[in-house]
Amino acid sequence: FSSEALSLGPFCLQGAEAHHLSHVMRTKVGDEVVLFDGSGDEFDARVTEVGRKGVQFVVTDQRSIDRELTRSLELAVSLPRGDRSEWLTQKLVELGVSLLTPWQTTRSVAVPNAKTVQRLDRQVIEASKQCGRNRLMRIGPPVSFCDVVSADHHAVRLFAHPGPPDPNSSARATSLVRLSDRLRDRSIRHVVVGVGPEGGFTDEEVRQAQQHGWQAVDLGPRVLRTETAAMAIAAWLMLNWPESDEVES
Ligand code: SAH
Repeated sequence: FSSEALSLGPFCLQGAEAHHLSHVMRTKVGDEVVLFDGSGDEFDARVTEVGRKGVQFVVTDQRSIDRELTRSLELAVSLPRGDRSEWLTQKLVELGVSLLTPWQTTRSVAVPNAKTVQRLDRQVIEASKQCGRNRLMRIGPPVSFCDVVSADHHAVRLFAHPGPPDPNSSARATSLVRLSDRLRDRSIRHVVVGVGPEGGFTDEEVRQAQQHGWQAVDLGPRVLRTETAAMAIAAWLMLNWPESDEVES
């Protein structure tokens, strides 16, 4: 991965990625590699020099390969601690999510900061290399509960919340299967999903989200960990996503 824009011709890769290529992958002069810069294109390149300052290439071919979902899927997640957030980030990259926003809710355990974002950005690059995705999932700046729920966008907005025992409650959650028809609507361009912390959303948060038009989604009778809930819902949406020829351009 190059954080600098790539084009045909000579190019020098530096920093952590060059170190990985020369010391971990043990690249040699003449090796052929595929590079990407997050723009959506892929580049064939040949190693011409492995030096102390970086790895020199000549970029020989550029092609556009679209491995994105046909519409954008964003997740706002009250992040779990440490490596569970890193794992979640990798899986969401693989599933095609376009934006992961660290979400500060009342019961959040980890307070996300700039360092969190940096750490997760690293995971995005690793996972993109692994799955061949050549656009980077963005890690948004950490935001408050209110900022997310009150954002005025035209997306379909869902939040994962176990169905309450009282079926007559106004907070009743629906299942994803019941939303299938609505989600097949070809004019939908964005879906945003909120997932709460281990302690769950507070009643007040549920009320506020619903007041702003968010739809509660039930993922079954078991209590899932935050990262499992986020992954399950992203996977379901990804697998039920319309194909490109079904989506209005
Ligand atoms: N004790 C909490 C559980 C939180 S689990 C509670 O009762 O709400 C962490 C987050 O994962 C939840 O806030 C929710 O967003 C999601 N989640 C976990 N299990 C779920 C389920 N069965 N249905 C819907 N969302 C779920």
